[in-house]
Amino acid sequence: MTDLKSLLPEELEAYMSVLGEPKFRAKQIFSWLTKGVRDFDEMTNLPAALREKLRAGASISSLRLLRRRESEKDGTVKYLWELGDGNAVETVVMRYSHGATVCISTQVGCRMGCAFCASTIGGLVRSLVPSEMLDEVLYSQSDYGEAISNIVLMGIGEPLDNFKNVVKFLRLVNRPEGLNIGMRHISLSTCGLPEGIAALAAEDLSLTLAISLHAPDDETRSKLMPANRGVGVRALEQACRDYFAATGRRITFEYAMIDGVNDSEAQASALAALARRTRAHVNLIPLNHVEERPFSPSGPGRMRAFCAVLDKAGTNYTVRRSLGGDVDASCGQLRRKREREERSAGQ
Ligand code: SF4
Repeated sequence: MTDLKSLLPEELEAYMSVLGEPKFRAKQIFSWLTKGVRDFDEMTNLPAALREKLRAGASISSLRLLRRRESEKDGTVKYLWELGDGNAVETVVMRYSHGATVCISTQVGCRMGCAFCASTIGGLVRSLVPSEMLDEVLYSQSDYGEAISNIVLMGIGEPLDNFKNVVKFLRLVNRPEGLNIGMRHISLSTCGLPEGIAALAAEDLSLTLAISLHAPDDETRSKLMPANRGVGVRALEQACRDYFAATGRRITFEYAMIDGVNDSEAQASALAALARRTRAHVNLIPLNHVEERPFSPSGPGRMRAFCAVLDKAGTNYTVRRSLGGDVDASCGQLRRKREREERSAGQ
């Protein structure tokens, strides 16, 4: 079966030629798919014979809602979706002043092993295909009842570990005849894989690249993020400089403040120097607590002292407000909860 929603308009045209249909049908089908139709019969401007041909050889991917939690504090909505093969992924919709933002997952599980993250606890199960990522946007948008204007790839999974499918998804949502979400409204967050960063620069997309840095020194970073081992902050710094030189786009360093781990004044100084050399913007995030992990967020005193060092160094930074704290909004928490419940139901 051809996975129709993973095809770009030009690939749909090629598929129409195979079916002996005129090219213009591709545009009509692409438009229906990105409107979120769930059945070929909803494509009312296609002849019945073509709908039958499509039904015989192609499929329209879909998601099933397993859980929906809405924050009473800030309206953040978290979804747990079941994929066609029974696996589950999480998607979050948040409201910012610039519109509704969807945070999508790019893999089922993750093999990067970050010590503060719930998504990686069971390892990587598989990568998502473009249609599944597109469905996260379409289904969340339909439930949320408002057009999504921004996308962040910051949910379950490492986007650069699923490079080909992620780039195709980005091109699908960007197409003017589809969702038409501009690259400048898309952020991709990575744990910092230098080869992937170089490959992304070569794709020449004008998206925002966010690096989950979380420590400016190898000792701390390798403890928190095993992907740093054998790579090192220095190679990551070089990849960031090269990315900026190639794209002219300023990188963001995401920095989750963890009590007693990465929030010393010496680390603030090292972070400020790294941000200056790479011309990066720094995003300080209060850590979202994860049940299975031993870390807690930095207290207000340590946060203030850390910020004072950044202020003194003239670092370009923001302190991000943490949305959805009451709905397990950190990536992987809802999926883990479901797995635990399934396990205890089976005992
Ligand atoms: S933080 Fe991101 S890269 Fe790290 S384990 Fe979690 S999902 Fe993977």
